Amino acid sequence: METYKAGVLTGEQTLEIRELPLRRPGPGQALVKVHSCAICTLEQRVYLGAMKYYPFAGGHEVSGVVAEVGEGVKTLKPGDNVTARLLTSCGECYYCRSGLENQCVISFKASTHEGLNGPGGLAEYMLMDSTALYKMAGGIDLGHAALAEPLACCVHSIGRGNIGLGEDVAVIGAGIMGALHIRLAKLRGARVIACEVDAARLETARKMGADVLVDSSRVDAVAEVKALTEGRGVSVAFCTAALPQLAAQAIAMTDKLGRVVLYSSFHPKNPIELDVNQVHYSEMIITGSVNPLVRDFQISTRLLSSGLIDPTPLISERKPFAQLTEAFERAIDPHTYRVLVTM
Ligand SMILES: [Zn+2]
Ligand SMILES: [Zn+2]
Repeated sequence: METYKAGVLTGEQTLEIRELPLRRPGPGQALVKVHSCAICTLEQRVYLGAMKYYPFAGGHEVSGVVAEVGEGVKTLKPGDNVTARLLTSCGECYYCRSGLENQCVISFKASTHEGLNGPGGLAEYMLMDSTALYKMAGGIDLGHAALAEPLACCVHSIGRGNIGLGEDVAVIGAGIMGALHIRLAKLRGARVIACEVDAARLETARKMGADVLVDSSRVDAVAEVKALTEGRGVSVAFCTAALPQLAAQAIAMTDKLGRVVLYSSFHPKNPIELDVNQVHYSEMIITGSVNPLVRDFQISTRLLSSGLIDPTPLISERKPFAQLTEAFERAIDPHTYRVLVTM
């Protein structure tokens, strides 16, 4: 019997490589030989024991090459480069049927490998429904292709911000999500102001195209943004950092009729004070963004395939599968962007 290896989190900071039987694709399925898989926050939380989903086959930011397709698969063939949408939606609930699958109430039920929880990208092979796979350009760096999922999340958020040509946009936080927001806002024709406390991340913000860098560790970001916009504030502010006081900052630096997008979730979710009259008089919109729609995912794959988005500055390291534990240790270091595991 042919087998393949999959990385499995079995407890706090405990990893195993398991041998699993290789199954052939059934009707509508495709077998993917995995090339790269990034270690996202979800995997880090399970690794650190903040979420105890053991045994957990992690890895939802993944790319690979189609090895074999089952009966009835129309748009994929062996040799195609692909990425996968692994954090799926049910297709049956009120939100899914309304075309709002990112709000699905039963989402994230992926279980790629028999008998294991989790999306399972940290493995040599994945057997999946072909509908979850997105074809990428033939010549693409498959490490870049693995970042289609986080980019898709940001594509959704940019849509919520509804950026107009020539508008001023602030992005608070220049972690990977902030950095992708910066690049996408540039593509939408905005002048982008990046607010960040860390010098190295500000440098990444610059590489991703930010027009103005605001070092929030030295200056009052709100006052600085106001000064840069003749006192009005920005048309759109994206908060990509998990601190509630930064959500308050985003609201404070936003112009009349502006949009505030709370992209990040908040930990801890302390309440903030809201000047309700600021919202009333300014007609601003305060909204959130959570998970990509299928359409956002497709847009993301096109942006990467065409090279409109180059995520090179966001890949800190590539580690071979044999060094999976080291890869996790590097990923939990807050100074890294994405750590990729290469199969
Ligand atoms: Zn992710
Ligand atoms: Zn649903």
